[in-house]
Amino acid sequence: MQCTAVRCLPARETLAQILSAADPPEDPAQFASGYAVCELGEHHRGEHADHLWDCDNPDQAVWFLWTETKHRFVTLRWCPAEQANGDACGLYTDHPQDHTWNVIDPTQEAMKADIAAHPERWGLRREY
Ligand SMILES: [Zn+2]
Ligand SMILES: [Zn+2]
Repeated sequence: MQCTAVRCLPARETLAQILSAADPPEDPAQFASGYAVCELGEHHRGEHADHLWDCDNPDQAVWFLWTETKHRFVTLRWCPAEQANGDACGLYTDHPQDHTWNVIDPTQEAMKADIAAHPERWGLRREY
């Protein structure tokens, strides 16, 4: 299961990061009222982490890391782990806990299950 830590992004600092980024995110507005939601597996050690945006360099992305008392913006390399089917891990190098495919987001899982069961509700046509 996914860690449930959430916190407000510091607006001014986030804006400063966006403005100084070499390859800023396409839609800065998404961070304006933004919350950081931890993407790590529950009961992880160290800082909580949320991916903010990808860098010019496809090997790197900007992350927001935080604890109870501190936070920081960091550019990190992607975790090099890959599954047998070629799916890459969506976290950063040396992240604590499980790779993304072992981290289940309960909200996303519930949505996926509902989409599979009632595709018409989601504007999808059932395929046979
Ligand atoms: Zn966390
Ligand atoms: Zn990983």
